[in-house]
Amino acid sequence: MIEARMTSADSGFITRPLEAPGFSGYLAQGGHRRRDPLAPPVERESRVAVPMREIVCYECGKTCSIPAAALSAACPNCFAHLNTDNITLKPGTHRLHVRTLGNVKIPAGVELSGLDIVCHHLHGAGRVAGNIRATGTITLVGHATVGGNLIADELIVQRGAKAEVQPGISVEHADVHGALSGRVYARDSVHIYPGGKLNGPCCTPYLQVDSGGRHIGIREIPDSSS
Ligand SMILES: [Zn+2]
Repeated sequence: MIEARMTSADSGFITRPLEAPGFSGYLAQGGHRRRDPLAPPVERESRVAVPMREIVCYECGKTCSIPAAALSAACPNCFAHLNTDNITLKPGTHRLHVRTLGNVKIPAGVELSGLDIVCHHLHGAGRVAGNIRATGTITLVGHATVGGNLIADELIVQRGAKAEVQPGISVEHADVHGALSGRVYARDSVHIYPGGKLNGPCCTPYLQVDSGGRHIGIREIPDSSS
């Protein structure tokens, strides 16, 4: 606080040195300032905790944390620019090369070839060709058709779907509620639900076919050494 006081002794202004006695919390002592033990505690600037989320960098494959609300981020490990957009591929789009930590949607009616997608979740209803790698779940609905290599953590074929993956898909786990044609390689398990149908080779250590579900094709057990 700066105070300027008119004194009665003279007509001029006397500017007092910059100080805030009593509530500054500090005492001037020998040219140093020391905390006044009787002063009320100084409230520290409260820091807002930024919600973070864990991501897997699609360039280097390392797990790192970025602010949850960030629209883009730099990988702390490889410094790659990471896009977090959720992307819906429109019919006739030229955006075939997609790299995002967000999700990609391929609506029904979209027909694209030459796709190269790396994303978190993928929701597919259109007919596309290319390579797709999802760190989360690939959900196939309707008459989704994908020609190319599909890699994901999880595959869900929704009820009522008549989906096709050629040559096939590689996942940890697959849930088949609708119909799927193609080869399924699942490192963990495949579950074919009532009404579900898998038409194609199924390579997994654990295959569960519910009553009302069908698997038509060769059942393979993955080589445990690989
Ligand atoms: Zn990275």
